[in-house]
Amino acid sequence: MSVKGFMDGLRAEVRGLPAYNAGLSSDAVRTRYDVPHVAKLGSNENPRGASTAVLAHLTQWTTAASLALYPDPSCSVLRAMIADKLGVEPEQILFGNGSEDLLAIAAHTFIAAGEDVVTVVPSFGLHIIYPQSVGANVITVPMRFDFEFDVDALIAALSPQTRMLIVSNPSNPVGCAMNAKEMRRLLDAVSPNTLVLWDEAYFEYAENEEDYPDSLAILRETRLPWLLLRTFSKAYGLAGLRVGYGIASAPELAGLMDRVRTPFNINQIAQEAAAIAFQDEGHVAASVEDARAGRAQMRAALEALGIDPAPSLANFLFFDCGEDAAALAARMLADGVIVKPWREAGYETCMRVSVGSAVDNALFIDSFKRRRTAG
Ligand SMILES: *Cc1c(COP(=O)(O)O)cnc(C)c1O
Repeated sequence: MSVKGFMDGLRAEVRGLPAYNAGLSSDAVRTRYDVPHVAKLGSNENPRGASTAVLAHLTQWTTAASLALYPDPSCSVLRAMIADKLGVEPEQILFGNGSEDLLAIAAHTFIAAGEDVVTVVPSFGLHIIYPQSVGANVITVPMRFDFEFDVDALIAALSPQTRMLIVSNPSNPVGCAMNAKEMRRLLDAVSPNTLVLWDEAYFEYAENEEDYPDSLAILRETRLPWLLLRTFSKAYGLAGLRVGYGIASAPELAGLMDRVRTPFNINQIAQEAAAIAFQDEGHVAASVEDARAGRAQMRAALEALGIDPAPSLANFLFFDCGEDAAALAARMLADGVIVKPWREAGYETCMRVSVGSAVDNALFIDSFKRRRTAG
């Protein structure tokens, strides 16, 4: 049988999946456009990188013997630290090879083909792709025109048949966040048949902002099943090592996901680095301060060009550039500037730019100014 014949017999939900739009690497852009420096502002990475404490540990890592051994399948050291700091039971915690791994595990654990999942657009692509991969019917609720969550529309989209509600707060790509009142109002409308998947990939950037909710406390007030996701990829500067974690409302839910995941999904180097990073609060605080200052500067520079970025509590800005964003982003590559044009229907004139180093942010503004045709 030909590959095509074989493929035609596979599940339609898998054959129909879109590719994840991960963007270009710095190396690819450097070689293709022959630029000396690349401003990689498409993936919300931390321009400070990993903390010096993490780097020091990695250089001392006892190599040969340790590399031959399987990692700790339960991440016990990191688990104990997180449980202690957050005041949750260690058995409520789960680890993923990045929090995207946890999104995949949650989809496989909790969703059956044909079940409804409610989420937001513009969206973090995997919030849609993973549920679709298991055959879910994904219902998407657009953000309001002022780029805030449309809580009323989300509530209207929910039903007792909804198996999962997926929200990232702050939103990726928009950057806006629900406050405590809105979050409670939304959760009050959720059926106990629905698992609330609350993705806080940008938690550290937002946690000290006045209006940002204590989501762990608010989720705990409910009697719903929930899963709260956080990651070491953003404020901790460890995207390359792939560590994310989840807190489940009940150890039973975490236990089910534990059976679905691969047993050694976090490698030993990543576990150790994450444990050191978790304790290095100074590095996170400095990274968050950088992001806040850089974000304000970029917002002001964009506003001076007549652009109105969405409210953001995260390390990126999202805005309508008034023209085909993919074409503009492609022209900016020639300046060594990588941004993320939004490709979801209705948002094709929008782009997301990460807050990077001061040099990279200036490069972005300069390139954006010269390459745009609108305005
Ligand atoms: C970056 C991001 C993640 C994934 O991060 P990992 O690197 O897989 O931990 C998950 N959710 C959102 C909303 C993100 O922006």
